[in-house]
Amino acid sequence: MRVVVTGAAGFLGSHLCDALLDRGHAVLGVDNLVTGDLANLEHLHGRAFQFVRHDVTRYIDVPGAVDAVLHWASPASPIDYLELPIQTLKVGSLGTHNALGLALAKRARFVLASTSEVYGDPLEHPQKETYWGHVNPIGPRGVYDEAKRFAEALTGAYHRAHGLDTRIVRIFNTYGPRMRLRDGRAVPAFMSQALAGEDVTVFGDGTQTRSFCYVSDLVDGVLRLLESETTDPVNIGNPHEVTIAEIARTIIRLIASPSRIIYRPLPVDDPKQRRPDITRARTQLGWEPRVGLEEGLLRTVEYFRKKLASQPPAAR
Ligand code: NAD
Ligand code: UDP
Repeated sequence: MRVVVTGAAGFLGSHLCDALLDRGHAVLGVDNLVTGDLANLEHLHGRAFQFVRHDVTRYIDVPGAVDAVLHWASPASPIDYLELPIQTLKVGSLGTHNALGLALAKRARFVLASTSEVYGDPLEHPQKETYWGHVNPIGPRGVYDEAKRFAEALTGAYHRAHGLDTRIVRIFNTYGPRMRLRDGRAVPAFMSQALAGEDVTVFGDGTQTRSFCYVSDLVDGVLRLLESETTDPVNIGNPHEVTIAEIARTIIRLIASPSRIIYRPLPVDDPKQRRPDITRARTQLGWEPRVGLEEGLLRTVEYFRKKLASQPPAAR
């Protein structure tokens, strides 16, 4: 297949490109580098990979045949989408429209990277795909949550109105190598702080929960979904739920860091609990996460250690 990946220079996009190339597909990565980094793609020189620097909120022109479009472009960390509210809304709406239009013109399969944030601060726990969510549309997180909800609605409309072959993956908190050290998400934030011996900043009282999935498991789930006939949304995430204070303590312990935990105000609308019900992925895709939390955290720490060692002290 020839696959277009939007958001290819990002954390997840770059891992998806690797996995697609490993399966023998040709990949065209499209990214405007707003939160991505070409360093995530450097190792692909010489492979069946092309890259175009382009903002997908503008018309996406791809000459030649395309078999699948994986739409991964969007700021994803809360500090990124709070800094880039309008770009986030635009890439979820206009960007999704353009990516769907490209898939339609090429008669390609389309996969949308959606998110557990479509469930907002959930009143149902764990979250099944049938849950409609509890989102504040005008709160600061609304720019991301509503953009993704709109993107799902538009994807459903293209499926129904145009018969486009679509997939929707609702990704739950995923971590691993190639996250930006300072992207503000819990795992890289705690790791960069613990590695530097700085205070580890837990927001709120740390009793809110998340369920963290290692990147290789996520990529495996996405590829299974791409190759399946499942057009309904599918949760992909690890159901192992932990409190944020617990993951902070685990990271400090694994790094053997002298850091101590300090508490900072909880961001507005921060979900109190999150855990995927993965029955649909298990039954329809035969998917199951395989990498345990400590194993995944250790692999990620190793990446961050190397990354820090290669940076001049001023950039750390
Ligand atoms: P990331 O910030 O590392 O990657 C996003 C990429 O999209 C970046 O390379 C960025 O430059 C690019 N991009 C943003 N706007 C663009 C535009 N207008 N045109 C072209 N490129 C653009 O984040 P990530 O964690 O890799 O997330 C990737 C996707 O997965 C996002 O759609 C995100 O919503 C979704 N997702 C991620 C998680 C997670 O835990 N990592 C959870 C839920 C959903
Ligand atoms: N969090 C925290 N300290 C940080 C960064 C995040 O306590 O330095 C908390 C955040 O408030 C949330 C959880 O960790 O409750 C997960 O945050 P992240 O940004 O990783 O993802 P999301 O909120 O989108 O699930």
